[in-house]
Amino acid sequence: MAKNMIQFQKGLSLTKFFSKYGTDEKCRQILFNMRWPLGFVCPECGHTCYCEISTRKVYQCKQCRRQTSITSGTIFDNTKLPLNIWFLAIYLITQSKDGISSLNLSRTIGVSANAALRLKHKLQHVMKKQDDAKPLTGFIQIDDSYLGGKSRGGKRGRGASGKTPFIAAVATDEEGHPLQMRFSQVNRFSKQEIFQWCEKHLSPYSFVVSDGLSCFTGIKQAGCAHQSIITGGGPDSVEIKEFRGVNTMIGNVKNAIRGSYHAISEKHIPRYLAEFCYRFNRRFELGRMVPSLARAAVHTLPRPRRLLKLAESRW
Ligand SMILES: [Zn+2]
Repeated sequence: MAKNMIQFQKGLSLTKFFSKYGTDEKCRQILFNMRWPLGFVCPECGHTCYCEISTRKVYQCKQCRRQTSITSGTIFDNTKLPLNIWFLAIYLITQSKDGISSLNLSRTIGVSANAALRLKHKLQHVMKKQDDAKPLTGFIQIDDSYLGGKSRGGKRGRGASGKTPFIAAVATDEEGHPLQMRFSQVNRFSKQEIFQWCEKHLSPYSFVVSDGLSCFTGIKQAGCAHQSIITGGGPDSVEIKEFRGVNTMIGNVKNAIRGSYHAISEKHIPRYLAEFCYRFNRRFELGRMVPSLARAAVHTLPRPRRLLKLAESRW
């Protein structure tokens, strides 16, 4: 049997991780090079001459005298945690297929449960921004799905109460194997919302297949070629070849989220969906995910606590 290329890739061992990112000082230097690859630039006046005030770990502009820390104006803004703890969290969140719960994260990196949750939400926000900027392209399978709600009794599927609707889109190769995915919480499955979602998340001229749900007529309106396949619903419809990729990914996401879903309030669902997609979309670059997420984080604007408490933009 052929080796599973994802399971057997090398990734980044803990030993290598600690030798590269093991101290606050090492991480500070790495973030400095990521934030200012051509050398320090003052965020206030754009000047490049500075002196380092090492006791306060800030850089002072020689022109306007503004003091800037490596974390200010980034997702790490105002953090009280050492940077190597942030990097360790990035490592733990990115290196396993289903990530790590915030409670487990708090125990492993030795911070309070609330601090771990905030840190995780901030990194999820970075992941979402990264993926949202890259539309899916090519062959795309799309489906409507729901998270949560009553698991027993009550109405199931479309229109069920207490469930959170999300759109699942998977770009595949010509054989239908998933390449990239985007899952987004939606307000409702309306033609208008699907149209706007497709305009943002799909390249025009993509070829999209969906079932016959009427909202999917919005796909064509967004400039994509669209074919709807009437499935007739029911359990057999998930076996249809044209939807196998998207149905597999929906199953995987639901299984990964199910364990902790009771603890995830609805407003945080967009972040959890984004985290899962981010890891899947980079599954062939396991080792590179640590520096690439850190680089994205240092170029993402701050997400203060009051904003984290609000709902993330859905898509
Ligand atoms: Zn300046």
